[in-house]
Amino acid sequence: MKVAVIGGGITGLTAARHLIEKSRSEDVPCDIVLYEKDSRLGGKIRTYREQGLVVEGGPDSMLARKPAGVQLLRDLGMETDIVYMNPEASQTFIVRNGKLHPMPQGTFVGIPAEVEKFLTSSLLSGTGKLRALADVWLPASPIQQDVSLGAFLRSRLGDEWVDYLGEPLLAGIYAGRIDQLSLFATWRQLYDLAVQSRSLIIGAMASRKRQQTNRSGLSGRSAFVTVRTGLESVIERLRDDIAQAVSIRLGTQVVAMRRTENGYEVRSTGDNGSSASETFDGVVLTTPVAAAKPLLRQLDIVSDEFDVPYASTATIILAYRKQDVAVDLSHASGFLVPRSEGMAMTASTWMSSKWPHTTPSNMVVLRCYVGRAGQEEYLQLDDEAMVKQVSREVESIVGIQAEPVWHKVTRWSHAMPNYLVGHGDHLQRLHAAIQSQAPALAVAGAGYEGLGLPDCIVQGQRAADEVFTALFR
Ligand code: FAD
Repeated sequence: MKVAVIGGGITGLTAARHLIEKSRSEDVPCDIVLYEKDSRLGGKIRTYREQGLVVEGGPDSMLARKPAGVQLLRDLGMETDIVYMNPEASQTFIVRNGKLHPMPQGTFVGIPAEVEKFLTSSLLSGTGKLRALADVWLPASPIQQDVSLGAFLRSRLGDEWVDYLGEPLLAGIYAGRIDQLSLFATWRQLYDLAVQSRSLIIGAMASRKRQQTNRSGLSGRSAFVTVRTGLESVIERLRDDIAQAVSIRLGTQVVAMRRTENGYEVRSTGDNGSSASETFDGVVLTTPVAAAKPLLRQLDIVSDEFDVPYASTATIILAYRKQDVAVDLSHASGFLVPRSEGMAMTASTWMSSKWPHTTPSNMVVLRCYVGRAGQEEYLQLDDEAMVKQVSREVESIVGIQAEPVWHKVTRWSHAMPNYLVGHGDHLQRLHAAIQSQAPALAVAGAGYEGLGLPDCIVQGQRAADEVFTALFR
């Protein structure tokens, strides 16, 4: 049997690895070809190891609570490379009127779980805080079908909470608009919380208690992990791990797919202009949705209804000499910028505080984000202008007056999938169409069921399982 894995990001690589594991454990031979359009593997995962720094242009960490990420590191023999986020840098700020305000204390994903602490927050006005707390007395939300995350949270906690806490914190992960993102496909657990407890705040109080109990079991470790030598090391290890058993075709874009009597014909073009066709019994398709859709359309599977817009962003890493930075950033992990502040930056992570292992001790390193859905105009700036703009904003918000001694801009065009209202239903129909019309084909990756690295790993493994089962049952 022969299987094509299309896309060499974390999803495709874990799918290929899982196919090898299955074929070994079931003792059935399986030839695997992995197609990657770029000249490198890793997709959104990109580490720079320069100037004594180990800094990320794409993702910088994984949520440890979702076990698939840490488990993969263990399976790859990388357990001793795991680094937990510095617990000393736990404070996050939110910008309001150009000033840093500490995230309210005692919250569960921003939802007040300790009312007295929430009331002392300087981020929201008195009216905004009281409106948020009204959630405790509001009747249950009568939601029968998917609505926007924004509409749901606005109805429970009010506009000010949503604009200054909810959107930067919850929609920021998708670089999306809170009033367009699907409640069910992004933060379904908040809906479940409200259903179980009627009020989000009452539910948050219970969740926070559970979280604190669990955390004490983890000896105070942070919720986020990374890898000492950068996340691209995971890609390098995965590549080495599968290299013997998988034919990896870099610089090779899949441009067409066709059903044949026995499987799928996959047509590809190489960077050198060459083109080739190969037939497979099964296919795992892990590209972003925009690249997957034309291929699925050729198989009469996908309709226009399945729409996942991707927001564009850029990360700008600024490195300063410590002696030039008069402010102490060591106690915090960074800040978020609400949409209404109208800045180029949407957030900033203080790498040297959050992940001290990434930075020599004589440097201070900030990673700033620019661009999100509906706020992409600053991405038009060239690199030099973007670094200038972001440095100016860092100066006015954080008070760093020095010039960065090193910078790196990484542009991510159409990179962050935004799951719109109805995403779950559309996805269900897509899976049903694949099941009925395309045996031994599976889709997986950030555009479908979670964009976090552990979600992508789970999807890659599940897709490999589905294809393997269809071929060998
Ligand atoms: P991709 O990485 O996009 O891989 C898909 C691959 O398919 C690409 O390599 C592409 O070149 C290839 N491809 C496309 N079309 C074709 C074709 N026709 N033929 C062959 N190959 C093709 N997640 C976290 O968990 N934590 C974070 O801190 C975090 N931060 C992030 C910060 C940024 C700036 C970005 C952009 C993302 C971040 N994410 C984070 C999300 C996470 O990085 C991604 O969701 C994840 O890496 C996506 O993996 P993937 O394999 O599904 O897709």
